[in-house]
Amino acid sequence: MTVMYESALQRYEPVFGLETHVELGTRTKMFCGCAAVFGAEPNSQVCPVCLGLPGSLPVVNRLAIEYTIKIGLALNCSIASWCRFARKNYFYPDMPKNFQISQYDEPLCTDGYLDVLVGGKTVRVGIERVHLEEDTGKSLHVGGATGRIQGAEYSLVDYNRAGIPLVEIVTKPVPDTGFLAPEIAKAYVSELRDVLRTLGVSDVRMEEGSLRCDVNTSLSVRGSGVWGTRTETKNVNSLRSVERAVRSEIERQAGVLDDGGRVIQETRHFHEDTGVTTSGRSKEEAQDYRYFPEPDLVPVAPPREWVEEVRAALPELPSARRARLVAAWSLTELEFEALRNAGALEVVEQTVARGASPADARKWWLGELARRANDSGVEVSELLITPAAVARVAELVASGSLNDRLAREVIEGVLEGEGTPDEVVAARGLAVVSDDSALLAAIDSAVADNPDVVARIRDGKVQAAGVLVGAVMKATRGKADAARVRELIVERLGV
Ligand SMILES: [Zn+2]
Repeated sequence: MTVMYESALQRYEPVFGLETHVELGTRTKMFCGCAAVFGAEPNSQVCPVCLGLPGSLPVVNRLAIEYTIKIGLALNCSIASWCRFARKNYFYPDMPKNFQISQYDEPLCTDGYLDVLVGGKTVRVGIERVHLEEDTGKSLHVGGATGRIQGAEYSLVDYNRAGIPLVEIVTKPVPDTGFLAPEIAKAYVSELRDVLRTLGVSDVRMEEGSLRCDVNTSLSVRGSGVWGTRTETKNVNSLRSVERAVRSEIERQAGVLDDGGRVIQETRHFHEDTGVTTSGRSKEEAQDYRYFPEPDLVPVAPPREWVEEVRAALPELPSARRARLVAAWSLTELEFEALRNAGALEVVEQTVARGASPADARKWWLGELARRANDSGVEVSELLITPAAVARVAELVASGSLNDRLAREVIEGVLEGEGTPDEVVAARGLAVVSDDSALLAAIDSAVADNPDVVARIRDGKVQAAGVLVGAVMKATRGKADAARVRELIVERLGV
């Protein structure tokens, strides 16, 4: 029986860990010169090496090593001065050699961490290792209802992906996260994706499988200090699914334990449609793979100077950027998270670079523009307005040429392809009426139309002037500067 999440957390403490596989964006594969591309005609990007034909010999891709070192450095890892590849032996139709070249007890990068921000707080996730291996091919099961092997009439294999360099990033177990475990797991993958994107080592497209996660989850009885048996949920392919997979395993395992059962060490499949996991195969132990050092490859011994060169050339990482922007824009961590979660960080930064104040840039991108993006079902960054145009709108408001209502109309015109903000202002006649004589005429008629209001103002009820301001704004169809109108009314009535 599955129990409710909140109830499960009262009796059990979850521990999770993540293994993330990332396809590197090198031009060629890990051990041969075949193109590493997505979506080509099946079996068109293969050669004797990646097909594992007898007598073929692998050669290590130097750029893949460099990318892995970059990832290790960005995750605060130690970089091995000497390490080897290992053969991982198992039999699977999508693996033509019947072994995978991977790394076992000598990974290239070890013992780092990644700080993630959840609910305004920083959580440090330990990194156990970052190692390099080759991807497998893909099986395609034809004739079954679900694309799975069960019920299929026959299966096809495509080896284009076999041999694409794959980095595996393994966290240490993350304990003591309580209710936040699913959210922290998701935030970790999101932060890791940002780091990898910033490094430019992968296109990190979860939907195309260039970034995939296996989620390990276990429960311990609160206060027992003993960690339970973990399960591994395979190939969780979206950020939302990472969160749901951890959550559903917590609920399922709590049900098993409550019924006096035992959690079995196994791999499980996550189902996007139902949000639950189902049993896969029982999990192999490392000894089942008969690892041994790969005899066809020389060890990898990156010179210190090279590692330091790579370190010196690292771009500004998301955490450093966060610290910089939080300070420069006087934000709280929560406000920063809101910007990032809205996908507006980039555009706001560019708008500020074009001269807008951080407060104005945030106001327009998180307000009017986020609303319009939401209405059209697109990301804010996909809207047909440039940061330069938003900066210009903010400038026109700051200088008093536009008020907020007119500015929203200008934005609408830009989004509808009517040109730059200045062109929209000219074409739609949207500038604020700042000519005092035009305003005074409108004020005179407002005063004439509202003698009782004027009497109240003269009696000292200055706030009643709002009625006259409203009348003038209406007469000018919203194009007046309300603050200026109020000043002129006060002058006109001599109060
Ligand atoms: Zn090849």
